[in-house]
Amino acid sequence: MKTTIVSLSEDTIRFLLDGVDVAFANALRRTMVSEVPIMAIDDIFYFDNSSLIPDELLAHRIGMVPLKTDLDSYVLPEDCDCHAELGCPKCRAVLTMDVRATEDRLTVYSGDLVSEDPKNGPASPRIPLAKLAPGQAIRFEAYAQLGQGKVHVKWSPISMCVYQNVALVPGKDRAAMQECVDACGPEAAALEGDGLKVIDIQRFEGCKKCGDLVSHEEIMGNLKPDEFLFTVESNGALSPERIVAEAARILKRKLGGFSGKVEAGDLHDEISDFEVPELDEGKLYSVGSGDLEEEEEGEGGAGVGEDEEFPGDVEE
Ligand SMILES: [Zn+2]
Repeated sequence: MKTTIVSLSEDTIRFLLDGVDVAFANALRRTMVSEVPIMAIDDIFYFDNSSLIPDELLAHRIGMVPLKTDLDSYVLPEDCDCHAELGCPKCRAVLTMDVRATEDRLTVYSGDLVSEDPKNGPASPRIPLAKLAPGQAIRFEAYAQLGQGKVHVKWSPISMCVYQNVALVPGKDRAAMQECVDACGPEAAALEGDGLKVIDIQRFEGCKKCGDLVSHEEIMGNLKPDEFLFTVESNGALSPERIVAEAARILKRKLGGFSGKVEAGDLHDEISDFEVPELDEGKLYSVGSGDLEEEEEGEGGAGVGEDEEFPGDVEE
């Protein structure tokens, strides 16, 4: 397997992944989208919300604000030894907001969130959250935790993650190919062996000069089955190169676990990845977990699958 970075900016990385099949490319994509953890707000305690936006709607908006994530300083709540409902400094960060409109109308932005740890501030300060009329105010304390996109999309570090085919077109005049590379730029095409490697097909076909040299049919007939161009755009929580590196690490760990099980003949393990975690009884208001009354009525909250837990208790 070989990777080559085609371009790298603050929020986007494009790289070639060579020597893998489409299944592996897709596994890497899915790991980036749903497994690489980032920080997001998960619990909010309002002291004041006199804006027109209901508490739960505002909480949802605030939960979706991407937070810069320092992956080396925090652990996932389920991996933390504190087991506390609201976490400890190792597994959560506290953010506060205290905004009041006095004389004029005021727009509340993500930049009004104040983090106790400056490494966990909002990735962008210009996301509008609410508008306040004179006299209205929003005051709250919020707890951010690491989480994964497979639990809620607010924990996905990705705003775009795609891969596309690359073509290697043989049998062209070398001077003409070089002209083409010069015209399109190294992000779109390159010389490889005796052929012309079309890295970014859309961009390549947008170039008049190169369209004359290589037809669409020739490109489609010479797609490589084992090389892909990835485009990964971060939502600002992590650097794009960190997202790729973390995904590779997670995938490697999972494959290691899987191969260990195959070798041990242990292939009937329960699949637990998609179980919704059960909520503790008396859980405080949490973004996306339903309201308090529901939790008091149902034993232990509105978790899917709770019904299976209790019939046994009733019989005994
Ligand atoms: Zn903890």
